Amino acid sequence: MSQPLVFSRTENPKPASAEHRAKVLADPGFGNHFTDHMVTARWSAEQGWHDARLEPYHPIELDPATTVLHYGQAIFEGLKAYHQPDGSIASFRPSANASRFRASARRLAMPELPEEAFLDSLRELVSADSQWVPSEGESSLYLRPFMISTERSLGVNRPAGSYLYTLIASPAGSYFASGVKPVTVWLSREYVRASPGGTGAAKFAGNYAASFVAQRQAAEQGCDQVVWLDAVERRAVEEMGGMNLFFVFGSGADARLVTPELTGSLLPGITRSSLLRMGERLGLAVEERRITTDEWEEKALSGEITEVFACGTAAVITPVGRVKYSEGEFTIGDGTPGELTMRLREELTGIQYGRLPDPEGWMT
Ligand code: PMP
Repeated sequence: MSQPLVFSRTENPKPASAEHRAKVLADPGFGNHFTDHMVTARWSAEQGWHDARLEPYHPIELDPATTVLHYGQAIFEGLKAYHQPDGSIASFRPSANASRFRASARRLAMPELPEEAFLDSLRELVSADSQWVPSEGESSLYLRPFMISTERSLGVNRPAGSYLYTLIASPAGSYFASGVKPVTVWLSREYVRASPGGTGAAKFAGNYAASFVAQRQAAEQGCDQVVWLDAVERRAVEEMGGMNLFFVFGSGADARLVTPELTGSLLPGITRSSLLRMGERLGLAVEERRITTDEWEEKALSGEITEVFACGTAAVITPVGRVKYSEGEFTIGDGTPGELTMRLREELTGIQYGRLPDPEGWMT
């Protein structure tokens, strides 16, 4: 084992003015404003992980021949820190993000950041920038760890020999400030996101780069989000652009929660795995299995599928109201947010904001 990483702290902090911070926190939106600091650490074949720092937020300078700019070895994570009723700040299942970050690194032939270093980096940044954690309604501090290759070389026949880990943070406002609104989704048959043996299960930058053309097509069709299908038959539902999908079969005490199984080409969402566990605790039948677009349409029309929702760190739980594809469209239930969807949303945000007990010890 290498030495634990110790983060050196800046001696020249450059905090934003209290006025600027107050203005941002009054209406943070998502992903456009950043806190005073960032964390970085470097990796090289000779030294392993080293040079870990907490520094003022600043641009990264890269040589034009840096490998990430050409061959795209870049992975990231996304999680949130929330104000708790006792005044502390806690994040939701950060060890799960640490573990997925290592899995993404393995798939992209990048070095794995040890869990302790990942968690320490979060603690360093959140404690330095604790004043940037918003406290209004369902707001939070979004944390964005990422890693890029930094070797200066155009050689394409091997992974890079050096890497930069960086953590930045961005205050995030309530996603649904004016109430939870169902989305309309587009079934993408022309484009695929990920294929068997590919990078779909990794939080790899290129997956997102490849998705924008379909997202634009969805917008042209009046839809909010793309639903990705399997690459081979384009029939099995996989996930959405930044969220996993759940289907509610039946209702009341007989409700069943179904989500597409992890095929290797969809992202194993942490919200997804948490909802499967919560569903079990609530006494619901939960199933991870293949579900096709034909089954979705048929059972939405027959009323067997009563609710559909998407889930992920950013929007927590988003109801799906309507589904469109090139030859048709259909509605889920009456198109309004379902009862179980809203109940699970209350349970999950209750744990995250410390309003409800946390039986699994998910908050850190
Ligand atoms: N699928 C994709 C493609 C995503 O980018 C995300 C966001 N990380 C998710 C699903 C949901 O994952 P999580 O619940 O861990 O945020």
